[in-house]
Amino acid sequence: MATKRKFRDEWLQQVEFQPWLTSVQADPTKASCTTCHIDFNANLTTIKRHKGTQSHQKSEESRKEREELLQNIVPQSSSNQEITFGVKFATILMLRHSVMKEKGRQSVK
Ligand SMILES: [Zn+2]
Repeated sequence: MATKRKFRDEWLQQVEFQPWLTSVQADPTKASCTTCHIDFNANLTTIKRHKGTQSHQKSEESRKEREELLQNIVPQSSSNQEITFGVKFATILMLRHSVMKEKGRQSVK
């Protein structure tokens, strides 16, 4: 009789599965990726295979980039909405600033 594989908490301790792997409370036979927002069967082969997929690696990359960006620019206490607005605003300011510098150089000639 085949027993169904269940999610093991020790997988959460494995560095290669951090920080995206999580258990599914409603279904112990499932594991979930918090980066891709998808569920899959809770066994090591499936989890490792998911880690190797292009879509997961892309999601991981953009998530890391976002986190690094936010950590560098915005104070930790800000809410998500404020962070998004702050980053957009800073980008607009930087763009405007460089455009104005270009114009200034040209008029000096
Ligand atoms: Zn994933």
